[in-house]
Amino acid sequence: MLAIEKNRASQIQNIKSKRIEKVSVDELFDGISKGQYPELAKGITLIESTRPEDFEMANLLLTKCLSIQNSSLRIGITGVPGVGKSTFIESFGSYLTKMGKKVAVLAVDPTSSISKGSILGDKTRMEALVKDPNAFVRPSPAGDSLGGVSRKTRESIVLCEAAGFEIILIETVGVGQSETLVHSMVDFFLLLKLAGAGDELQGIKRGIIEMADAIIINKADGDNVKKAKLAKTEFARALHLYPPKENGWIPTVLMVSSIESSGLNDVWSLLKKFFEESEGNGHLSKNRFEQNRKWFEQNLENELKFRFFKNPHLQKDIAETLLKIEKNEVSPFHSAKLLVKKFLK
Ligand code: GDP
Repeated sequence: MLAIEKNRASQIQNIKSKRIEKVSVDELFDGISKGQYPELAKGITLIESTRPEDFEMANLLLTKCLSIQNSSLRIGITGVPGVGKSTFIESFGSYLTKMGKKVAVLAVDPTSSISKGSILGDKTRMEALVKDPNAFVRPSPAGDSLGGVSRKTRESIVLCEAAGFEIILIETVGVGQSETLVHSMVDFFLLLKLAGAGDELQGIKRGIIEMADAIIINKADGDNVKKAKLAKTEFARALHLYPPKENGWIPTVLMVSSIESSGLNDVWSLLKKFFEESEGNGHLSKNRFEQNRKWFEQNLENELKFRFFKNPHLQKDIAETLLKIEKNEVSPFHSAKLLVKKFLK
């Protein structure tokens, strides 16, 4: 990041943090539990804050929100830029809110700190949803690392659930590791594709297809319908080549036109079928427990690392050990064990 951008980012963070200070955790929690959007937005800003002095408040808020135990259907949506993710979310989100569902839209965007937000950064891309009283649209958090962004998204899900959102759509770009991260925090993973473009063209890796619970061929309208039908058959055939999923779910291929809002009934029916089945056979809760276990382990790891490297009694030893390693005087393996021993004393 350029120095000017960094400076600007820290200025924005300061302004945001000052805004947070005016309200207490109790006020934020009270508003969130009543489903109030300004408090939810402020709560997420607090969660996203990188100022160490905000961490305690953020943790307190998170703990309170976790106690509400509302649940939602968490749906991940991926696909290369241009495939129509925002148009689909706008269209499908509106379809859901018209049914009276409360829908939250979050994003995990590894490119946001570099390109200043390629997804959801520009809210005008979801004009109808942004104005929809049953929808809450949150642009991508500006994080320094993908890990940081994903942690914040995971915590934002908890806040949205506490605010009573029944369906949470999490958008990510089909590049890098962001799909794996989003996959680790959702119940259902949707992959958007275009007809007539090869996998290489669409930049989709094999692993992403393996993660998908459904593939949606988007832009199935006008002259494209024929190609979309062909792509549907091809993908359906290709999916058979993948090993069956542990939960017994068989991934399906659907056709949608996000612009014409066609095919959305099929998407909703499929989601309902998935949630009914996986709630019935216990896989939904099993998957969530697995995700929470990983989340716990990651936090444990981060906390231990943080405490180790910030421990004032170890600073000198760490620096000296590094010097010795540079001169090949000690083994990195043995030195690590020695320092951990000292840390645990
Ligand atoms: P994203 O980068 O994946 O979020 O893609 P966008 O939602 O921004 O869409 C990229 C372009 O595809 C835009 O010009 C959309 O208008 C267009 N688009 C999206 N969905 C459809 C669709 O269902 N049919 C057609 N014909 N165009 C679409």
